[in-house]
Amino acid sequence: MLRNHIDVDPLDWASIEPHINALLAEQLTPARVHEWLQRWSDLASVLDEAEAQIYRDISENTQDKAADARFRKFVTEIQPRLQKAEQALKQKLLAVRDYRPTDETALLIKRFAAEAEIYCDDNVPILSELRLLGKQYQEIIGGLSIEWQGQTLTIPQAEVLLADRDPQVRQRVWRLVLDAYLEQREKLNNLFMEMLVRRRRIAANAGLPDFRAYRWKALARFDYTPEDCLTFHEAIAREVVPFTTELYGQLAGRLGLDAIHPWDAGINSPWLPTVDPEPEPLRPFREVEELEATAAHIFEQVDPVFGGYFAAMRDGFLDLASRPNKAPGGYCNGFPVSGQPYIFMNAAGSHRNVRTLLHEGGHAFHFAESYRRQSLLWNYSGPMEFCEVASMGMELLSMPYWSKDKGGFYDEHDLHRAIIDQLHGIVFFLPYMSVMDLFQHWLYTEAPESVTPADLDRKWSELWDRFMPGIDYGEYQDEKATGWHRKGHIFGVPFYYIEYGLAQLGALQVWRNALKDQRKAVADYRVALAAGYTRSLPELFRLAGARLAFDAGTVGELMTLVRQQLQLSTHHVRTGTEPRPTS
Ligand SMILES: [Zn+2]
Repeated sequence: MLRNHIDVDPLDWASIEPHINALLAEQLTPARVHEWLQRWSDLASVLDEAEAQIYRDISENTQDKAADARFRKFVTEIQPRLQKAEQALKQKLLAVRDYRPTDETALLIKRFAAEAEIYCDDNVPILSELRLLGKQYQEIIGGLSIEWQGQTLTIPQAEVLLADRDPQVRQRVWRLVLDAYLEQREKLNNLFMEMLVRRRRIAANAGLPDFRAYRWKALARFDYTPEDCLTFHEAIAREVVPFTTELYGQLAGRLGLDAIHPWDAGINSPWLPTVDPEPEPLRPFREVEELEATAAHIFEQVDPVFGGYFAAMRDGFLDLASRPNKAPGGYCNGFPVSGQPYIFMNAAGSHRNVRTLLHEGGHAFHFAESYRRQSLLWNYSGPMEFCEVASMGMELLSMPYWSKDKGGFYDEHDLHRAIIDQLHGIVFFLPYMSVMDLFQHWLYTEAPESVTPADLDRKWSELWDRFMPGIDYGEYQDEKATGWHRKGHIFGVPFYYIEYGLAQLGALQVWRNALKDQRKAVADYRVALAAGYTRSLPELFRLAGARLAFDAGTVGELMTLVRQQLQLSTHHVRTGTEPRPTS
């Protein structure tokens, strides 16, 4: 099945250009908009598919020189020309008088208008400078290592040791990792200041009061304001922070510690404890075939349609196993010509790998469901805030099928350990998300022109103390203050973070519905996935049976739900029985 097919060589601008010129030359009348958009979408799909394939090739084998050459060619020769051409196409479309947008095009035109509005020729070179500075950040961080017992370890390898049962091992490893970061302190400070200057200039060039206003448009945030974000953070401070402090305290007690220290949590996920109070970590699978087959069984039970999508992906659209020369991490990408989603990850037998596959599965089904209903490339999947409802929602919707008696991964005891892990991940994350978001609101709107790295450190510490009091940094104040160095989003994708928090509230509401009526919750979720990007954010949440919310009432209600489930599962893990109902 090849939809959107156009005969074009995606790595040869001379072959692409005539198609762009034909679109630009057309006399565009309201009656012809749809057909014209479809032709543009078909062309863009071929290029998108090529990009997805190139990205897949370099992820699957980082040593593939030919793939690397294709990647560089696409980024340096094709993309910049394409950006310019797309700006011209958007302007042409927006200039059509008397066009009455349809359900399919209304939001798309709004997005194009926002993008066209902030586009400015002067910003093109600054944006590419920023991309190169972003790459410098990756090089600095990617180059960090520690020496441990005669071996050189990368930071992700060192992070594995933060799960060691011996607190002294964890503390020594953490010390080495933090020393490696602190050695780069000046360099990272200078690099960020270079970025800040450019970001301020970009906003000014686009005629906007500050960089936050610029990002708001760039990220197509039409349905909420900075004030809504502040309301959300207040709600988290009130309803989540005391809860996390209590949970960190309980966990410390079970581990026999006086408190949770920074070396008991992750480097990249500094909110998430890395140690497990049980003697053995969860071992959901040994071989990746087992992971794949068990996940297939779980998806099939959530909904046979999802089972069908996953079965099709098993035929050449999954690369799950960890092996040498594979890029790190995990992601899902859609191929808009072949119509297939693709999942990449590095599975090695942990529960976190299971979560990653379920999460990426949600993204994959979002692409597949919307692809089936939508015909324009830009309407596949959806706004990022909702994409993460699809993925985080799938993690929670699949929970009833994690147990062995449903063909899943875990016996009764481990099932409840996995549920606790899942819910801890959600609750602990929210206050950290507030630190990340509030830090950037301050940085791009309130911080004075003359702001210094020391000011940034102070602000980060102040926010950390307010939102993360459950992790005890003690005397390690420099380590705490430089926490912003250790989160790549601040350097690479400014302001992109609150999406995860808003989506988590959406996913929890989907889960709340599922606890009452799993079948209906899944049906609603599917309707929302199929709508793709043709509905506003509040509307997508509504279709999924949820509400786009920022208020303390909603946050508090969802935390109560999490607390109840945590109590149930904790009781199970400790006693192996269901708690008795109390009157
Ligand atoms: Zn995701």
